[in-house]
Amino acid sequence: MSIKNDEKRPNIIFIMSDDHAAHAMSCYGSRINKTPNIDRIAEEGIRFDNCFCTNSICAPSRATILTGLYNHKNGVKTLRDDLDGRLENFPKVLQRSGYETAIVGKWHLGHGDVHDPTGFDYWNVLPGQGNYFNPTFIENGQEKQHEGYVTDITTDISIDWLKNRSKEVAPFMLMCHHKAPHRPWLPDEKHADMYEDVDIPEPETFHDNYQNRSNAAKIAEMTVENHLTKKDYKIDPPENLSPQELKSWKYQRYIKDYLRCVASIDDNVGRLLDYLDEAGLSEDTMIVYTSDQGFFLGDHGWYDKRFMYEESLRMPFIVRYPRKIKPGSVTDAIAINVDFAETFIDYAGASIPETMQGRSLLPIMEGETPEDWQTSMYYRYWMHMAQHAVTSHYGIRTERYKLIYYYGEALDATGAIDDPQPPEWELFDLKKDPQELNNVYAHPRYQETVEALKTELYQIKEKVEDFD
Ligand code: CA
Repeated sequence: MSIKNDEKRPNIIFIMSDDHAAHAMSCYGSRINKTPNIDRIAEEGIRFDNCFCTNSICAPSRATILTGLYNHKNGVKTLRDDLDGRLENFPKVLQRSGYETAIVGKWHLGHGDVHDPTGFDYWNVLPGQGNYFNPTFIENGQEKQHEGYVTDITTDISIDWLKNRSKEVAPFMLMCHHKAPHRPWLPDEKHADMYEDVDIPEPETFHDNYQNRSNAAKIAEMTVENHLTKKDYKIDPPENLSPQELKSWKYQRYIKDYLRCVASIDDNVGRLLDYLDEAGLSEDTMIVYTSDQGFFLGDHGWYDKRFMYEESLRMPFIVRYPRKIKPGSVTDAIAINVDFAETFIDYAGASIPETMQGRSLLPIMEGETPEDWQTSMYYRYWMHMAQHAVTSHYGIRTERYKLIYYYGEALDATGAIDDPQPPEWELFDLKKDPQELNNVYAHPRYQETVEALKTELYQIKEKVEDFD
């Protein structure tokens, strides 16, 4: 493969956690925790304030990141779909252009047959969701149990690989994928007592009653109040609490464990950054921190994700690369997880496969957003009523508006429960209603906007070739 230029090519470290919402990172203005190490990446690089996923669940987001394809193209629409390793992906492109590549930690895209990781010189991944404590990893096909806490071990293995790389001269690309802070939110001993004597503030929409919203929001089964179980809050609640007090108690139990898991990730990001400094690699290495999607942290009374609402749709995405990215940069340009693959290929100086559906973020990272940059993005969730009773939906988010269509059925044989719901629409004016509490789809004043957004929605569906 030809390399476009002979400029020095960056090493790339892609750190991705699982379900870490941007609003639980202090560089994104969290009101509930501090992440000083993760913040270093943003302070010394760029923070994307409008980065979104195309489908807010684990496996589909991961498949999109690797392949640069939407889920109807890469075949991973639901959590039941495994990735076909024969598809083109960005690690393969980097590998062919001379990079040494590795993936460590969560994989969640299937195992064996054609589903093991491809495009990696080294892989050491968790089977399925993996365990928080004493996890088994699969190292290039061989199972091995490790002692300790998964976030520490994922970092240990990553640093060991960096230290012991065989091809000293080639640039490298490492994907370091943390399992945490995925449910059931099991913190390690070091952070077990963190926040013990404080109350974490409840989000402003904690007592949302879903009035003036779709039926989809009303029937979803992901409320802190009624759908968390003892497995989540781990101990019996005190007796004699009022329903309101019980709801608040459950939130504290949930959010504290979640934030303790995040604190361990933050420590481990610090370890990795320190290692890069010690090894003299910081200058030549692009380091990314992101999460496979966002998460409801009590927002709208919920935990979990899946919906196209902001807390779930938004991904944290921060990048440091001292040679090219100005410290303290911030952008509100719309970035999508489908853009990541092409970004890394672009930085590697390799040619971007024509089949990939995103666009390189390189110019934005370097402070020059192209005139014709995307001003909207397409979203689709397929797992109709399968988990947490979330209705299938697709939609478009522009800089100001969000139009969501709940089509209300399982359109293909994905094995989802076929429990049809009446189709319905939602429109949010994010400028006036950033919390998405007021569906203005039927409001007379918004009818022109609705028509324009529908036209754009069907154009974008056609562009990404999602025809059903
Ligand atoms: Ca996830």
